[in-house]
Amino acid sequence: MKLKVVRNKFLNFYKKKKHIIMPHINLKLNENKLMFVNSGMIQFKKFFLGRKSKYKRICNVQPCFRVSGKHNDFEKIGYTNIHHTLFEMLGNWSFRNYFKYDALFWTWELLINKFKINEKKIWITIHENDFETYNIWRKIGISNKRIIKKKNIKKKFFLNENFWEISNNNGPCGTCSEIFYDMGKKYKLKNQRYVEICNNVFLQYKKKLYNNKYILNKLKYNYIDVGIGLERLTSILQNVNSNYKIDLFKKIINKISDKIKIKNINSLKIISDHIRSACFLISEKIYPSNNKHGYILRKIIRRAIREGYKSNIKNPFFYKISSILIKEMEDFYPFLKKNKNNIKNVIKKEEEKFFNIYKIGIRILNNELKKCSKKLDGKFAFKLYDTYGFPIELLEDICLKNKILIKKKEFFYEMNKQKNNFLNRN
Ligand code: ATP
Ligand code: MG
Repeated sequence: MKLKVVRNKFLNFYKKKKHIIMPHINLKLNENKLMFVNSGMIQFKKFFLGRKSKYKRICNVQPCFRVSGKHNDFEKIGYTNIHHTLFEMLGNWSFRNYFKYDALFWTWELLINKFKINEKKIWITIHENDFETYNIWRKIGISNKRIIKKKNIKKKFFLNENFWEISNNNGPCGTCSEIFYDMGKKYKLKNQRYVEICNNVFLQYKKKLYNNKYILNKLKYNYIDVGIGLERLTSILQNVNSNYKIDLFKKIINKISDKIKIKNINSLKIISDHIRSACFLISEKIYPSNNKHGYILRKIIRRAIREGYKSNIKNPFFYKISSILIKEMEDFYPFLKKNKNNIKNVIKKEEEKFFNIYKIGIRILNNELKKCSKKLDGKFAFKLYDTYGFPIELLEDICLKNKILIKKKEFFYEMNKQKNNFLNRN
């Protein structure tokens, strides 16, 4: 079952359950604390906070980007089978309408009856005190041993993994219940073996500080917020053990490995992941720069270039991959096609800029390396980074390869000195 089909089947399933299909929103946010949409509920937060929604039941597919703030999976990319910087979240919501019972029954119906996932591979987590959810899962037919009660390890009031709050202070909150899929015994690490595919959040309380203690008051209305990772679900339905082996990524990865001759598996994952993020961000008119959203885009593009560099690719290549990604996703996201040329040009320009910096920097660096034996002067490293814009990560890669140590203390001393000068000036 292709990813496209999974997406549509999900929407149709909830449409039949009388949900309105809502379009997704842009990734770029201008909120103080949050730069990008990181989950499907962001556009509906106002309803949880008290505003009345026109629709009681909503479902949608929301691209989510987790490279900054509370949810930051940037460093995981390339090193797990289940994380992306940008992924698609399938979501269904109830605003003052159905609650735990229907939400859980429908999730189960979708995964087991509709998508025919082997139920013997499913594990459930619940909050240790959420007996209501426990009883519903039992009624659905899940055996006691497959329902893991997550303990309140931190011994803080309800603040453990299966308790969800919209903000730390006085916001709506409630327990949640995750669904995991067992990838099999050959995965020794727990977090690789058991993959979270879905989270059902039940908003029914308001937390209040009372006599220095938190208490939970019932909200007037209940809310449901369910999120499923589309790529993870698809990997299960396609019977592959990694998101990067599903139809969408297989095509992109084949192209990178055949045409661009990058073979390292971590690099392939990183580059195929990052091209998707870059295409979506540029479509929203975000351009590489040194701050905010543009900085994140630059970080994404530069890491992809660095991965290419590791395989000796020293000319722009990343922009060439955009067309295959766009072709794969344009049906559902037509703005990608509309922005095709712009996407290509922006990435190419950024790559060219990088390689110019690289050429100048590498010449200066090579001269310096001839002079030093095993240690690179920190002051020099900082000058290379600050004046010539040579990426520090690349410098680290080169030094590592040549078994040369960068004098980091000196480097950071110079960096702080400059920061202080800057602050004093302003
Ligand atoms: P994990 O602990 O596995 O990183 P999470 O607890 O951060 O997941 P949620 O915030 O509950 O995940 O998001 C809902 C669903 O979105 C998850 O069940 C998962 O299927 C999917 N998901 C979350 N983060 C990612 C990611 N970086 N890449 C792909 N899918 C993701
Ligand atoms: Mg979770």
